[in-house]
Amino acid sequence: MLKTAIKIKANKKLAFFSIYGGVIKAAALFCAVLLAFALYGGPAFAASTLLLTDSKTFFLSDAVKVVFYFNRQPQIKPVKSNNRLEFVIDFPECDFLIKKYKQNIKDELLNGILIFKTENATRALVRQLQMTQVRITQGYDKSRKNFYVSALFYRPYERYSKYEARLAEIERYKKKGVPVVLIDAGHGGKDPGAKSIYGDIEKSLNLKFARMIVSAINETGLCRAYLTRSGDQFLSLGRRVFLANQYGADAFISIHFNANKSKKVRGFEIYYLSSGTASDKAAEILANIENSAEFLDENIAGEQDYQVQSILLDLKEKENIKESGILSTIITGWVSKIAAYPASEPKQANFAVLRNLNMPSILVEIGYLSNENDLSFLRSSSNFEEICSRIAIGTINYLCPKAALDYSIIKNNNGGEVKAAAPKKNQAVKAPTGADALAEVIIAAKNKTSRKNLKPAETKKIEYKVKKGDTLSKIAKKFKIDLKKLMELNNKTAAGSIFPGEVLKISND
Ligand SMILES: [Zn+2]
Repeated sequence: MLKTAIKIKANKKLAFFSIYGGVIKAAALFCAVLLAFALYGGPAFAASTLLLTDSKTFFLSDAVKVVFYFNRQPQIKPVKSNNRLEFVIDFPECDFLIKKYKQNIKDELLNGILIFKTENATRALVRQLQMTQVRITQGYDKSRKNFYVSALFYRPYERYSKYEARLAEIERYKKKGVPVVLIDAGHGGKDPGAKSIYGDIEKSLNLKFARMIVSAINETGLCRAYLTRSGDQFLSLGRRVFLANQYGADAFISIHFNANKSKKVRGFEIYYLSSGTASDKAAEILANIENSAEFLDENIAGEQDYQVQSILLDLKEKENIKESGILSTIITGWVSKIAAYPASEPKQANFAVLRNLNMPSILVEIGYLSNENDLSFLRSSSNFEEICSRIAIGTINYLCPKAALDYSIIKNNNGGEVKAAAPKKNQAVKAPTGADALAEVIIAAKNKTSRKNLKPAETKKIEYKVKKGDTLSKIAKKFKIDLKKLMELNNKTAAGSIFPGEVLKISND
């Protein structure tokens, strides 16, 4: 829906390497000769020395990006400095051909860069003028044929102390076992997203709905929800991913509105990441629109993060995709119960905002700004509240299987009225029907317990039979319980002391 050019206001190269480029070329030639010897049966030589060959600074709208280039893939070792404004990384066993390199930077965020050799590493020191979020990525730059490590110093949109306080708060919730979900209002700032002919702008609607979902979730006290942006700010897709990972969120939900050339297309849709191709052509086109050039704001063309490359191989990623599918199905199940609003089956596509996330993550397209029925439906405040509440319930249903348990108890006692998982006090939620049964089945499958375990009488004690390859920490993670608690329950003192076939107590309550 939009085209944003990559803005590189400055592009400072190390003067040294321009002047002494010949030295590097000569060294490269020498290495090539060594390689030729090694390949054609000549004497065996050690691999070429790891070198930091260049550094560049890019001034982007969302961040200042400092990139270090290498002839081979370097190791990264962050170093804690006593001065909080000094950002220091070591590249162990890495050589640097000059004694010291210094670059002054004129920016609100950074003051300068220093590169120098230490005893067994090359050290990069970036002087910040204010504390900010820093994201490190590494990869291979195809056009330069160089490996790189980049440090993104994000431009602040709130005080850093506020961000630190939030991290501390999240830590406290996590300690109490309260799941954390990050609700992302798509687009923002210079990136408006889709528009309706009546002047509705996607970025504003996304924020309105995201806010409502967050407050619906937080009102229950069962989960804790946070927003990626709380105002009209531009956040690159990479930064949203960064925030979700920093917060250690248990789920990531990106809120969007769709638009289509065909004014007939309508309704609610959820997308999650595919490990290969998109589920259909429309999903692929949508992914291209939502990805847009926004992502390039961080990733200069030609560069490729390792994480993106390895997406097909990463088992954790596959597990997350599976979980994302479950989360999508549960939420869709809840929303599909709104009679006047169509919701389609979850689809898969390759969305940039869902890549590189360490948790189940989905992209919700609440409705079509190009469809009259969707627009008039969503303009009603009761419909707006209902759709947000149902997304909230679905999220809680996924994150707190226990809450679903409570809910089923209440359902049995109170003749179908939901209380525990209802997002608003005194707000009657429609009697649970097929969607809730579906959610229960999924939760049961998720916990590897049988459906009848969801009945209150039989949930007093949950047991698990140890399988080959299981460890106590794996089992604790699977059932989302504390490892220490699991060990206590089963009188275990060492983490490895379980055997296949052994029956473990998972819960006593
Ligand atoms: Zn969008």
